[in-house]
Amino acid sequence: MRRPGLVRIVAAVVAFYGCVYGVRAQMRRADLPRREPAVAAVQAPVGPLPGEGEERDPPQPAMCGPFPAFAMLPESLWPLAPQIMRPGTREWRTIVVHHSAGTAGNAAVFDRMHREENGWVNGLGYHFVVGNGNGSPAGAVEVGGRWIQQIQGAHAGAKATEYNEHGIGICVVGNYETGDFPEEVYPGLRDLVVWLARRYDIPPERILPHREVRGEPTECPGGRFPLERLRDDVRAAAR
Ligand SMILES: [Zn+2]
Repeated sequence: MRRPGLVRIVAAVVAFYGCVYGVRAQMRRADLPRREPAVAAVQAPVGPLPGEGEERDPPQPAMCGPFPAFAMLPESLWPLAPQIMRPGTREWRTIVVHHSAGTAGNAAVFDRMHREENGWVNGLGYHFVVGNGNGSPAGAVEVGGRWIQQIQGAHAGAKATEYNEHGIGICVVGNYETGDFPEEVYPGLRDLVVWLARRYDIPPERILPHREVRGEPTECPGGRFPLERLRDDVRAAAR
């Protein structure tokens, strides 16, 4: 009678320790960081699961993304892409065109003038300057510090707050009240204005001559400035 009893006791002890060992092994496994089986990567679905797409952010408008904006940038402006393609931190509503009224100049000359004569700490009041071949190459676009920093302009006049705050100021060197607009200047101006209008969704009728926004008399940018031609080109590019 003792032997079967001993067997039962030994079996019970073995079962008890086996059970404890199994539970502890289970607990140790639970403590380990979970590792996905390698095969899971192979079996993982490539695209979103059905219904998952609705959870994601809606697609951004084409104007906001850097790639579509770059795709629209005309080749003539590619060298200036890092300066021109700024993050859309400011709301630009209009493009205000100017002439310099003098015969020569460039961004650096006007920047010095605006700092020293006008006392403007941010310098050049325009966002862009387009050369006429007298101070910088004809049709060459220069990007001002105010554009790079995306800050307000100082080009529309003290009474024209809206147009300084939300108007992109472009100055073409020359006087287009007294002189004809040089044809070789036009392509650079057009490329810049068309791109800006598309990038910031500015319609042709919001491309304005300085004389219409200043609130004080001015002839800027002169009666021979090709304003309607610019608007037509923006209209054509939008189609
Ligand atoms: Zn002006």
